[in-house]
This record gives sequence, structure tokens and C-alpha cells, in this order.
Amino acid sequence: MQVRSIGSDYNTQNNRNIAFGIIKKNTIDKVLKVGEDGIKDKFLCIVSAPSGTGKDSIINKFNEKYDYFARIVTCTTRKPRPGEVNGVNYNFLTQDEFQKGVENGDFLEYCNVFGDRFYGTRKKDVETALATGKNAILVIDVDGAMQVKKNRPDALMMFFTPPSMKELASRLINRGTETMDAIAERLGKASYELGFKNKYDIILQNDDLAESVNELGQIFKLER
Ligand code: ADP
Ligand code: 5GP
Repeated sequence: MQVRSIGSDYNTQNNRNIAFGIIKKNTIDKVLKVGEDGIKDKFLCIVSAPSGTGKDSIINKFNEKYDYFARIVTCTTRKPRPGEVNGVNYNFLTQDEFQKGVENGDFLEYCNVFGDRFYGTRKKDVETALATGKNAILVIDVDGAMQVKKNRPDALMMFFTPPSMKELASRLINRGTETMDAIAERLGKASYELGFKNKYDIILQNDDLAESVNELGQIFKLER
């Protein structure tokens, strides 16, 4: 089995190497457990990665193939990009609405991700996703993920890494959704975010989209 060089600084005693990354021992068995009624319990999965790594691409393709996760719609105070739909991509809130939610204790976590823009996960939106009967997936930045890890230690923590910073830059440029300033901001934050990867249960290097999707299928025991 081919093992990439990621995670060489990772404590290997409790890990299992997978083809494109590392998975912490027993973490998958824990979330794939079957309840006393013989039905698999639904679990919460947190995903982080530097912007441009391929989180959305992987999760969308994985879900097209397996229909496995309900995506938790988070909240932001940033303006919608062309094509983004309120309630689908994000719940787009004003600063006031966001602030009120914070005061009411509505959020499981929230962060000031880039400059003056707030992002946060409402507790009720986690429940909405789990109520679909699927596992729930939450795509958030590393600071938010660390807050959730504290509040929900049962959550499975998954981190995607890009093959290199150069490749990350070219993915952001090719995506064409950000200005050069915004790309520079995201690249500037990437090394900070990569410093958190060892706090996650699974680290998957996204070299090839189809391979990443297959890898996840194997991790969640959907493929033999
Ligand atoms: P994120 O959600 O992490 O910000 P995206 O899913 O939007 O990242 O992907 C960023 C860009 O990189 C998109 O243009 C996407 O098509 C492309 N991409 C995703 N995965 C790969 C890959 N394995 N190889 C090359 N390009 C990729
Ligand atoms: P974007 O503005 O590109 O959609 O997202 C920017 C960053 O915000 C991404 O890293 C994304 O994962 C993160 N993000 C999105 N929603 C949330 C959230 O609810 N909480 C936190 N902490 N981060 C979020």
C-alpha cells in the first residue's frame, strides 16, 4: 500500500496508515457502531481543510455516489457569491441577526474567520441535518472545529490536506471565485490551519478527486 509522507510528525503508535493519509485507531469503529436495536447510530462528522483543498468537491462527489451525509447549513455574515442560495449554501445573516443569535446561545460554535466576517453553526441546524436520518457533516474552519470537538467529543474529525502549497494556490486561482487579495488571504491562513491536522481523527491528502472519494468509501466501509 502506498503511504504518502503526510503526518510523518504524527504519533504513529495509535494510527493506521491508509493509501492517502492516516486514520487514528478505533475512531471509525466508534462512529460506525450498531445500536442495541440493530440500527446504526447516526454520527456527526466535522471536516476542515485550507480553502481550495477540495472539501466541497470531495463531499459533493462522495454524496452523489453514496448519499451518506446531510450537510449542515452554517451561518455567515459575508455576502452571497453569484449562484449561492440562502438556506442552501449558507444561512446569510446580517451582523445584527448574527449578534442576536450569539446572545441567545443559539450557536454550537462561531468564529471570526476572515477579517470582519463571522461564521457559525447553530445547534438547531445540526439537529435539522440529523433529523434527515443521515449522518451529519459540518464543514468549518479549524478554530470552530476545536470548539465543536470540546462540546461534541463523539464527533468524527476529518482533515483534508492539499498535496502542496503550490497546488493549493493553483486550485484557488483556477476556481476563479476569489480576487487575488482574497486568494492571498486564504493562502496566508493555510499554514496556520495545516498546523491543526494532527488534532483530527482522519487526515486525507486530496491528490486526486476520484481517489479521495473512493478512499472515503473504504473508510466508511461502503466499499470492500
Ligand atoms: P474547498 O471547498 O476546500 O474550498 P473546492 O472543492 O472548491 O475547495 O476545490 C477548489 C478547486 O480545486 C475547485 O476548482 C475544484 O474543482 C478543484 N479540485 C478539487 N479537488 C481537486 C483535485 N484532487 N485535483 C485538482 N483539482 C481539484
Ligand atoms: P467561504 O467564505 O469560502 O465560504 O468559507 C470560508 C471558511 O469559513 C471556510 O474555511 C469554511 O470552512 C469556514 N466556515 C464556514 N462555515 C463555518 C462555520 O459555521 N463556522 C466556522 N468556524 N467556520 C465556517
